[in-house]
Amino acid sequence: MPFPDLAARVAEIRGRIASAAERGGHRQHVEIVAVTKMHGADAVEAAVMAGVPRVGENRVQEALAKMDAVTVPAEWHLIGHLQSNKAKHATRFALVHSVDRPSIADAVDAAGVSAGLRVDVLVQVNVLGEASKGGYAPADVPAAAERLRRCAGLVVRGVMTMAPLDADEAALRRAFSGAREARDRLLAAGHPAVELSMGMSNDYEVAVEEGATLVRLGTILFGPRPR
Ligand SMILES: *Cc1c(COP(=O)(O)O)cnc(C)c1O
Repeated sequence: MPFPDLAARVAEIRGRIASAAERGGHRQHVEIVAVTKMHGADAVEAAVMAGVPRVGENRVQEALAKMDAVTVPAEWHLIGHLQSNKAKHATRFALVHSVDRPSIADAVDAAGVSAGLRVDVLVQVNVLGEASKGGYAPADVPAAAERLRRCAGLVVRGVMTMAPLDADEAALRRAFSGAREARDRLLAAGHPAVELSMGMSNDYEVAVEEGATLVRLGTILFGPRPR
């Protein structure tokens, strides 16, 4: 059986999440999204069996193939950059974390409208203005909040961010608290934007201290990704 100690690892991580949430004082509920990218369907099945039904994929094509291969009920999250020509597949995901620019918001909105449903999305925010990453600048969030209100094919459920890989703790806290403030802006603008997707294997405890409701964990659950 692949990933034999996964349930124990999940239990340990849940304990760390609970402690971090206590320290942070935001009183939020936190869920794990198991990042199964580059692993096979067996990782998805192992996560579900270990009590983690939310799984994150960063490529549409890879995710669709795994959806067909997986035999257990999983909740599929898209966490990676979405190209416009793949936006129609957004309707296959329970939550799209990576609405990172107005053109993709429009494309996902159109996909929802033509499917007759509303796609649940997060607004990806690039808090520290890293050139290598997509995402709305925090200063653009109020305008985005207005524009997204007119979208009948999507629902804004919150904010996603990625911290720099090499960040020290102060920079991590700036990135995560900035994302929290962006989330609070969307809430104040009337969106049901309670979710805050932030924190990966190396920084999830700080993210939870800063209010994360969804942590996206890959390596810490499954080990190094195969290539
Ligand atoms: C790969 C990935 C993760 C998981 O990273 P780990 O360091 O393996 O936990 C989280 N979020 C996004 C957007 C990713 O692409």
